[in-house]
Amino acid sequence: MRKHIFNAGPAVLPVPVLEKVSKSVQDLDGIGMSILEISHRSKEFEAIINDAINLMKEIMQIPEGYHIIFVGGGASTQFGMVAMNFLNKKAAYLETGNWAKKAIKEAKLFGEVQIVATSADKNFTYLPKNFIIPTDVDYFHITTNNTIYGTELKTDLNSPVPLVADMSSDICSRPIDISKYSLIYAGAQKNIGPAGVTIAIIKDEFLNHQVTDRIIPTMLNYKTHTENNSLYNTPPVYAIYVVKEVMNWLKNEIGGLENMKKINEEKAKILNDYLDNSKMFVPTVPDKEDRSLMNITFVMQEPYKELEATFIDYAKTHGIVGIKGHRSVGGFRASMYNALPVDSVKALVQAMEDFEKTNLK
Ligand SMILES: *Cc1c(COP(=O)(O)O)cnc(C)c1O
Repeated sequence: MRKHIFNAGPAVLPVPVLEKVSKSVQDLDGIGMSILEISHRSKEFEAIINDAINLMKEIMQIPEGYHIIFVGGGASTQFGMVAMNFLNKKAAYLETGNWAKKAIKEAKLFGEVQIVATSADKNFTYLPKNFIIPTDVDYFHITTNNTIYGTELKTDLNSPVPLVADMSSDICSRPIDISKYSLIYAGAQKNIGPAGVTIAIIKDEFLNHQVTDRIIPTMLNYKTHTENNSLYNTPPVYAIYVVKEVMNWLKNEIGGLENMKKINEEKAKILNDYLDNSKMFVPTVPDKEDRSLMNITFVMQEPYKELEATFIDYAKTHGIVGIKGHRSVGGFRASMYNALPVDSVKALVQAMEDFEKTNLK
């Protein structure tokens, strides 16, 4: 039986997508070759990558003047690539978690970094507010969803300088106003595909701000990929194919990002409502405004703390996997990405309720 997959990443994928892409491993649309065997220069793959781009443009309502590229190296390579391409003198960063810290670390290799605000004082359990974005910087970098800590910036910021966003764990979870961003990047393996491909959406105008007095290796230069439709070298063919099928699913089965957002809100509400009334479990992000729809983090309060490992085992007997919290937070993390069915959230809450009833002192 299929599990309830709360993994943080790589994560749950839509069942119809899994069925389709597994068939294509044997034979891609009856062409007598596997998706794993076709050339990245073939007309079949050209259609796949163009479909993936066009579907993303349609679903995310990406206006004219942007390029979508598919690259390797994960979001972690983007941390350095962003700074290498666009940090002339100084860049501003919002420090909202471990991934933001890693992005900052890489940026410092290329120039000055101004940390505009941080929530490190409370172990990243809230989002900094009322910060002022400086105007004398090359760009402002944010992490929209803090996968480890369970906070999410759910509005599109107005930035006076080019806005760069790591959306690895909430891309396509809701509609966004792309025009407010100069560069968005995301590893596919949380919300839109398998590990192995990273998506970047770049405003053409921002590419003109690229640094000029630094040598950038060809593969780490955004222009190499925008100018070659991500086909300068062999791209991750299969991963791009899966992303394309996830986009088809978002369009045809879900009906777009407005609907996706409603479903994600419904799922988060089921778990949050339970957490807010539980005598055993407490959410680690107190302010509901800041709480992520994608990753909800919680712990057991005293005197139940020592039952955390027992609950993880109990949940497993009900087919619930992936709920152990990241080591820097502890407790639990329920990652509820787009493809996680509402029923899986209901199953988790049921298990929590039953466990609480049995073990409440
Ligand atoms: C997982 C994650 C990353 C790292 O992604 P990789 O593809 O493993 O490099 C970066 N940022 C965020 C927000 C993430 O959730």
